[in-house]
Amino acid sequence: MDIHEYQAKEVLSNFGVEIPAGALAYSPEQAAYRAREMGGEKWIVKAQIHAGGRGKAGGVKLCADDQEIQAACEAMFGRKLVTHQTGPEGKGIYRVYVEAAVPIDREIYLGFVLDRTSQRIMIVASAEGGMEIEDISAEKPDSIVRSTVEPAVGLRDFQAREIAFKLGIEPGLTQSMVRTLQGCYRAFRDLDATMVEINPLVITGDNRVLALDAKMTFDGNALFRHPQISELRDKSQEDPRESRAADRGLSYVGLDGNIGCIVNGAGLAMATMDTIKLAGGEPANFLDIGGGATPERVAKAFRLVMSDKNVQAVLVNIFAGINRCDWVAEGVVQALKEVQVDVPVIVRLAGTNVEEGQKILAKSGLPIIRATTLMEAAERSVSAWKSDNSLNLKVISS
Ligand code: GDP
Ligand code: MN
Repeated sequence: MDIHEYQAKEVLSNFGVEIPAGALAYSPEQAAYRAREMGGEKWIVKAQIHAGGRGKAGGVKLCADDQEIQAACEAMFGRKLVTHQTGPEGKGIYRVYVEAAVPIDREIYLGFVLDRTSQRIMIVASAEGGMEIEDISAEKPDSIVRSTVEPAVGLRDFQAREIAFKLGIEPGLTQSMVRTLQGCYRAFRDLDATMVEINPLVITGDNRVLALDAKMTFDGNALFRHPQISELRDKSQEDPRESRAADRGLSYVGLDGNIGCIVNGAGLAMATMDTIKLAGGEPANFLDIGGGATPERVAKAFRLVMSDKNVQAVLVNIFAGINRCDWVAEGVVQALKEVQVDVPVIVRLAGTNVEEGQKILAKSGLPIIRATTLMEAAERSVSAWKSDNSLNLKVISS
């Protein structure tokens, strides 16, 4: 789960990372009011969206007075900001963060990631701040400092000092840099983050080490341990299909194709998507309905898949081990009666009680296309979608 910059800054500052003075606003008037309250001469108005690259896309504006702040906000609120990280549809701006502008001497890149190869938290830093890490690694790969943290002892001060030294931090600021590194590391570890990125971390004209930007991502599977982090979720920044699925306890990832998939088990869902591609189609989603596929759950899954306008056929692929095919078949029949499904539906059942399941589908009188093998199911889905004759489908018996 991603959170906003202003939230990440608050989290990190609780761990000792220094941040500029700032305040959140939900309207242009509030932004101007907040700036006045904060004091100072110049402010930065920053669009709060779950993506970076805002600076280049017009989502970060330097302002010198009330009018400029209001004008900057008018241009942001309610709009979609498209950056190189958002995809072409962009992300809606509903909150802005107003910050006291600071004089920048140096910009540094600082990131903490989960390194799967070493199975450790890895610190990635570069003296070339302000640039995206992808560009730094393409253009100035030698400037990147990498350091993995031994989990049994945590990040030690000498290790943090070594990083500061490699970044060319002047001796008077080493202690501040160590505090920043320690703060980020502890926030990452204690809150089950998967990523912390400060780009840029700046050395100010008055010799402070400040996080000017902050990004944090958390492990969704560990959120139950951190209710204060779960609360920071902002659904306006998520794919609406995925947030609806998460609310219903279904595991869903929206894709660009047009064959909707309802599958039990993540591995089978992946195999189903691969097979659809092999048969010449494109899956519209990944959807794992889990082990106990009750009729209600199957109906929920149908509703979710059908809410995607691109879906032109639905493939239900169930391997019943703990599940029972007859139960799933009843769920499918019930779902098709409750949910308006005006596209071809292909069902492949295998495993426990498969014969009973097939009988239920056949007796239902619904135009369900049945298949025995996964390949057959994928091929029938692709041809049903291509022939686009959902209104006069015949029940194919297997
Ligand atoms: P991003 O483009 O989404 O990564 O947004 P950032 O928060 O990184 O802002 C983009 C750029 O705006 C930064 O790299 C800085 O160069 C600049 N910037 C942000 N805050 C300040 C500030 O307080 N003072 C100055 N001078 N520049 C700032
Ligand atoms: Mn940034």
